[in-house]
Amino acid sequence: MEKVVIIGSGPAGWTAALYTARAQLAPLVLTGKQPGGLLTTTSIVENFPGFPEGVDGYELMTRMQQQAERFGAKTSFGVVESVDFSQRPFTLVVDGGKVVAETVIIATGASHKHLGVPGEHDLETKGVTYCATCDGALPVFRNQPLVVVGGGDSACEEALYLTRFGSVIHLIHRRDSLRASKIMSDRALSNPKIKPVWDSVVTEVLDVKLDKVTGVKLKNFKTGAESVLNCAGVFIAIGHAPNTAIFRGQIEMDGNGFIIPKHGTMTNVQGVFVAGDCADHVYRQAITAAGAGCAAGIDAERFLAAENH
Ligand SMILES: Cc1cc2nc3c(=O)[nH]c(=O)nc-3n(C[C@H](O)[C@H](O)[C@H](O)COP(=O)(O)OP(=O)(O)OC[C@H]3O[C@@H](n4cnc5c(N)ncnc54)[C@H](O)[C@@H]3O)c2cc1C
Repeated sequence: MEKVVIIGSGPAGWTAALYTARAQLAPLVLTGKQPGGLLTTTSIVENFPGFPEGVDGYELMTRMQQQAERFGAKTSFGVVESVDFSQRPFTLVVDGGKVVAETVIIATGASHKHLGVPGEHDLETKGVTYCATCDGALPVFRNQPLVVVGGGDSACEEALYLTRFGSVIHLIHRRDSLRASKIMSDRALSNPKIKPVWDSVVTEVLDVKLDKVTGVKLKNFKTGAESVLNCAGVFIAIGHAPNTAIFRGQIEMDGNGFIIPKHGTMTNVQGVFVAGDCADHVYRQAITAAGAGCAAGIDAERFLAAENH
């Protein structure tokens, strides 16, 4: 029987592991298919405090793991297939085997949605990105024309943020009006640097041969016309999907599958806690995920301590 099982090994998972390990609870971290989480897919992280020159994403996550393991966190490269939260102790099916836990911290993150067009995958981190806050300030985007794809609040926020860096921001949307809230739409559309491109979809990101983004191919839905728009960066903001399918029916989520914390980081199930992007559709940053992991670690420790009194 494990005292604490942490599902996920991104910043939220490793920080929860660090805190529960230092509380001498010997947490078991189940890494899932992506040990280290999303940050391992990026080369340079410039906004994680403590690294004035920036830090390689893979290195940052390896250091988090080492720090948690130093205090007794146990690592298993397992994928959780299903959970039973109907009674305590909780049962998790991990790669066909069973793990039993007094408390569980869910830190399974979220995946960004892809356009699924040619060039998108090949040029990821070479001008294609899914996070303006993370990458917008990079030198390659400064004073350059940029493209944001999407029409919701996130797309507007990304476009507005990018006005600080790009020369012009083309906001590409498949409809003839934004589906963002009125306040966000108004803010975006009244910014002189943001140019909407209506009724249009990106059909290809250019230029794989040059190994960097030079533009996008567009198709106008209404006229059928095809065109090329030059740009140095493509910021895709068409939504995030939390990695929470295995918890469906076991725990309270919102309509999009984000887990809803109730008291601090506790969920509606006593003894199950949540941290990071699987419960956060607003900030989605490594530092906020790590902060939530810290809170979940402390909440789990206090929950167990209160029970043992
Ligand atoms: C390309 C890119 C660049 C980024 N750059 C920055 C940046 O510069 N600065 C910044 O602050 N943020 C950045 N982000 C965002 C940042 O990566 C996320 O906000 C952060 O990683 C979220 O942490 P998390 O711990 O919640 O989830 P994640 O890091 O997504 O980790 C989720 C973990 O859950 C595991 N998991 C999922 N399902 C299961 C399962 N069934 N069983 C077991 N484990 C499971 C996965 O294997 C993974 O280890 C970037 C994101 C991307 C994609």
